[in-house]
Amino acid sequence: MKRAQIVKPYEPLVVDTVAIPEPPPKGVVVKTSYSGVCHTDLHQWDNEISEGSNLVQFIDNPDYKLPVVPGHEMSGIVHSVGSQQDQGDDPLKVGDRVALYPWIGCGKCGFCNNGDSNICAKNLWLGFMLPGGYASYIIVPESKFAVKLPDSIPLDVACMFSCSGLTTYSAVVTARPAVEKAIVRKGKANLLIIGAGGLGLWSTQIAKHLFKVSTIITVADVNEEKLKVARERGAHETVCWDPSVSDGNAIQEAMKIGGYDAIIDYVNTTKTTNRAFHCLGMGGLLVMVGLFGGQAQYSLPKMVFCGKGVQGVIVGTLQSMKDMIKLVADEKLISPPMKYLKLEDVTETLKILREGKMTGRGVIDFNL
Ligand SMILES: [Zn+2]
Ligand SMILES: [Zn+2]
Repeated sequence: MKRAQIVKPYEPLVVDTVAIPEPPPKGVVVKTSYSGVCHTDLHQWDNEISEGSNLVQFIDNPDYKLPVVPGHEMSGIVHSVGSQQDQGDDPLKVGDRVALYPWIGCGKCGFCNNGDSNICAKNLWLGFMLPGGYASYIIVPESKFAVKLPDSIPLDVACMFSCSGLTTYSAVVTARPAVEKAIVRKGKANLLIIGAGGLGLWSTQIAKHLFKVSTIITVADVNEEKLKVARERGAHETVCWDPSVSDGNAIQEAMKIGGYDAIIDYVNTTKTTNRAFHCLGMGGLLVMVGLFGGQAQYSLPKMVFCGKGVQGVIVGTLQSMKDMIKLVADEKLISPPMKYLKLEDVTETLKILREGKMTGRGVIDFNL
């Protein structure tokens, strides 16, 4: 099988060929069909992330070591099944079409037992601590982490459920109580989505389906072209936060329709979080998702007097991924645009992503 590994930060990924692995007793081996290239892969390639004045190591986990096969958005076909696979109601079979849930935890702690393995402190994520999707075959330690797909969902779309799709679903679900409370209090709600990339586009559609009435969805981005796509995917309002616009004007523009009851920030820099904080209305909730880095300063009394809240979201649970797959299948949601690439071109793609010139989701197509 072919794989691409990060051997050293910033250096081109090394592509080589090794033997197809055997399935673990309780798991499966999946033949990869598609593997998404996530912005997080860039931070992983750099092995550092900005905290504002500091750069910190990308991941603080003693089990994270280079070289690593990155990639945590994968779909494919079950290639082989372990000898002790869970024989529940509908066991996986060779040939099943699946999307992989990469946010695997220790399986023993309270978080894992509650279904929250994405925030287990001893995470064993595919693409980080365990080999990931930049490979033509993937070992899935337990078969439950390979989720069967409805026939109506193509495998290229399905790879996005592992991270970008799941993250947006979790973010919208996290914002939901604030939106629903606002509707009870005022008869309507304002939701602001910052970032009209792949995540923002998923989010706009999910919000439209989960908040069917009385919610005005506004999307902010630096790029007018991306905002056009956001409008096509259901945004009621858009605001262009062109880099030349001052914070004051950007906030004023976004606030034309009033304060926001919930804001989902897919960028999450010092600049966007500052703007978001000022745009939050009474009782508003800021949901932080982006990992672009930085630090925040909030007015502490305003947090108290205005009952504002902040919540971070890191990907989502296995159950949320299943719920999202059902929503996409039932409501026929349209995925963000994709750009297909070969495994050998992944370093070049990461560079394009760094320059912010990627339109749509870069997806490695293992048939190319
Ligand atoms: Zn990701
Ligand atoms: Zn755990």
